[in-house]
Amino acid sequence: MYQEPRIDRAALITKNVKAVLAGLSELHKIYLRRPVGGPAPVLDDAQSLADLELVEGIAQRAVTELRYDKALNEDSTPDYLRVSLEKLVQEIRRVSTGHERLPGRKARAAVGAWLQAESDVREAFEDLRWRLATQLAVLDAEAAALLPKPPAPKVPPTDQQVLTEQLGRVIGRPAPAGTEPTVRAYLVIGGVLYRGDNDGRTVSDATKDLLEELVTRLEKWTVSGCAEVHALDVYARSRNLTTADQIRHAFTRAPGNVTGAVIGAMDAEGRSGRYWVKRTPCDNCSQWLPQLGITPDTTGAKR
Ligand SMILES: [Zn+2]
Repeated sequence: MYQEPRIDRAALITKNVKAVLAGLSELHKIYLRRPVGGPAPVLDDAQSLADLELVEGIAQRAVTELRYDKALNEDSTPDYLRVSLEKLVQEIRRVSTGHERLPGRKARAAVGAWLQAESDVREAFEDLRWRLATQLAVLDAEAAALLPKPPAPKVPPTDQQVLTEQLGRVIGRPAPAGTEPTVRAYLVIGGVLYRGDNDGRTVSDATKDLLEELVTRLEKWTVSGCAEVHALDVYARSRNLTTADQIRHAFTRAPGNVTGAVIGAMDAEGRSGRYWVKRTPCDNCSQWLPQLGITPDTTGAKR
């Protein structure tokens, strides 16, 4: 028994819509990319005529395709759709060319009023326009995907990334020999490393005063014994902060001030040779660091 070959009608319509699109100019495509709906644009006579010409050109192009019996939608026979679109082309030509022609804006208004009465024609063109615009959007997206991608903007590393990289370079590496407690800390602010060492240096009065304010001493504490304090002092000196208030202000959450600072610290440990071992802040530093919004990195710290 004979069976009609099954035709994928949706695929066929897409193919035919593509054929119509292929015959349209770039101006027609710009018209099709316009959002539908919303308030009607205010056009002068020349623009109104140009607009009518675009509608006529799109309809005429579809008529040309439909002459060869190519369907463009599911509901209507190609003939029915072609007749509607031909009527539209004729009406636009009637009011915009020849002895009956009207000034642009009047011509456009006349076609609009005529379409209100000719609902079949209006629906035929709206359907055609929707199909063309939908297919055009698909083709536009495909073309955009083929364009070379602009290089991704360079994102500066976060303070935590800078710290992680620096700790990776130092932890486990040889530390200065000796038996004195030796500690080091890296404070990262705005991508810049400030290194603190308890190498016998004193810290500035500004830093000392600030820590007096921030820390209720839990144990006998010499501020200069902490590498974290030295790192803070290095930062303060680099910014010419000469009073406790100035340092404190630099860490308040205000535009341009420090946010998201991080710090990592380490001890020199070992017998025959000493190596850097990551550590957590002492009880005193654990008090002042959070007050300045500085987060200690203790991941993998030994103690
Ligand atoms: Zn400490």
